[in-house]
Amino acid sequence: MSMNYTEQTPWSRKDLLDYLSSHLKESRLQHILGVAKAAKELAALYDSDGDKAEMAALYHDILKDKDKAWLVGYMRDHGEEPGEGLLAWKTLHAPAGSIFAREVCGQQDEEILRAVRYHTTGRAGMSLLEKIIFVADYIEEGRTFKGVERLRALAGSDLDKAVLASLESSITYLRKSDAHVMSQSLEAVQYYTEAIAGKDSK
Ligand code: FE
Ligand code: FE
Repeated sequence: MSMNYTEQTPWSRKDLLDYLSSHLKESRLQHILGVAKAAKELAALYDSDGDKAEMAALYHDILKDKDKAWLVGYMRDHGEEPGEGLLAWKTLHAPAGSIFAREVCGQQDEEILRAVRYHTTGRAGMSLLEKIIFVADYIEEGRTFKGVERLRALAGSDLDKAVLASLESSITYLRKSDAHVMSQSLEAVQYYTEAIAGKDSK
């Protein structure tokens, strides 16, 4: 693996796969590969760049196995305050993963970095690539939760509706577990509710 940190040579797909296979647990790796496959399929369906979608997917959970203290420390070491994320620390692997992709892996594509950063909370006004990664994370072939078949069908017909349904299902789950719901996710629900109402009325 070539890792020239000083020159920030971007990691190739193979560098990244080697890293993931040696640093993450097997079930995590399988999930990531599933998201990469789903993301490539969605990219083909919605005329987006399949290689970019695959790279963003391979990065998305690169720090998912880290604990709260590590993630908070890592973000602060790179000048970012986790803020509201402290109330929902399991979302922190997303912004921290985007910092890791940039700082350690030399990934400079802002679109890829944003797709990694917002894959857990979503946000209002996501780019096509951000939506592809957000939805691929829910519908990859290893997912078995109730309603996943409906989400897969929606993803094939209307990506915004799939984003909204994914957000709603995760918010319902968080509320049931008495967990904090990030304001970014609530803003995204409002944004996509309005976007879909606007489309449907045309
Ligand atoms: Fe994640
Ligand atoms: Fe994931």
